[in-house]
Amino acid sequence: MTTASALLDRYEHSLLGVFGRPKLVLERGAGDYVWDVDGTRYLDLLGGLAVNSLGHAHPEVAAAIAAQAGRLMHTSNFFTTPGQVALAERLLTLAQAPADSAVFFANSGTEAIEAAIKLARRTGRSGLLATQGAFHGRTTGALALTHKPAYREPFAPLLPDVLPHIPYHDSRALAAAFAEHGDSIGAFIVEPIQGEAGVLPGDDSYLQLARELTTKHGALLIVDEIQTGIGRTGRWFGFQRAGITPDAITVAKGLGGGFPIGALITFGPAVTGMLTAGQHGTTFGGNPLACAAGLAVLTVIERDGVLQHVQQVGAKLRDGVLGLPGGRVAEVRGEGLLLGIGLTSLTAPAIAARAQDAGYIVNAVREDTIRLAPSLLLEPAHAEDFLGALPGLLSESSEAAGPVGGQGTPSPPQD
Ligand SMILES: *Cc1c(COP(=O)(O)O)cnc(C)c1O
Repeated sequence: MTTASALLDRYEHSLLGVFGRPKLVLERGAGDYVWDVDGTRYLDLLGGLAVNSLGHAHPEVAAAIAAQAGRLMHTSNFFTTPGQVALAERLLTLAQAPADSAVFFANSGTEAIEAAIKLARRTGRSGLLATQGAFHGRTTGALALTHKPAYREPFAPLLPDVLPHIPYHDSRALAAAFAEHGDSIGAFIVEPIQGEAGVLPGDDSYLQLARELTTKHGALLIVDEIQTGIGRTGRWFGFQRAGITPDAITVAKGLGGGFPIGALITFGPAVTGMLTAGQHGTTFGGNPLACAAGLAVLTVIERDGVLQHVQQVGAKLRDGVLGLPGGRVAEVRGEGLLLGIGLTSLTAPAIAARAQDAGYIVNAVREDTIRLAPSLLLEPAHAEDFLGALPGLLSESSEAAGPVGGQGTPSPPQD
């Protein structure tokens, strides 16, 4: 019995089963790679679900956290810290927020969404509009906005006045929802690219129409940048491509480079003034450690031209995948280093399992889609390594997978 299988057996007797049996027991990481407890190395093309924005064990992030831990680890929000103020200011600048915008720090994506829901309630309207395929989190407020019935239905009834989810990237459905319910909608909440739905991009005109309709009907436009923000798409935030100014955005995943942090950013004085002293709070949010991690991440992305790197390596991956012979790839969706490889068959889970056996971590986000969300610093040589392995991973019979430079033997399809 390997160390990993023994630990997984203990896991099953000590951890709540909501995640199923984990795929690996990981022990350490460096840059684009992680190692499991048995010493097997993997090229991590999932990045902890778009979280490890600078890869694993980035020396500057690790040093910033260690230094902060030795200086001041927690204060409560009765007090602030230099790092907290600095991080808020950096985020406002990078989001191109107008004067009198503000940041509320939370610890996770779903908490940022909860803050956004409370912001929307302050419009005086309780109606919330979200899209089919949307993922906004798992706490009960955010869950009401998340679309997938299997996530929501066991916990009904959820937050009231959430309108039926409208098809994503469907201008007519959006216009119809506002025509019918415009007076009662406090906010429309939307992802610039739907991540969990399979990396589905909404084009600029969709976000522009959302801006137009929400303004016209007096609703807030809240853009969920939890997966798309902090450079993931090759821009600081996904909404910036559309040239709009939202009323608020939510940020989390990539901001801390692996350290838990979330944020709601309110745009402009009217929206920012809607939540006043005492109306919201958190014990840990804006914690000095989290802010130190966030500042280190933003510093490296800015200083080292990482947005450009994301565009270049993202294009390399996209072009490489699209150039593969064999007709197994239908399309590549997404932007920058948030990419969905759309397959011509429902083989994504089997391919992801085969990839893991060959030393590559990818995610079967849908039966027909492999999602890639690697480190924003992904080395071009590592992208090439994966592209070289991909034909073997995509080919139907595992024998045909051939040598792909990894460890272990190919496993049979999972489904
Ligand atoms: C992951 C995610 C969330 C939830 O974030 P958690 O930190 O898991 O609570 C919300 N919205 C989007 C778009 C996400 O990708």
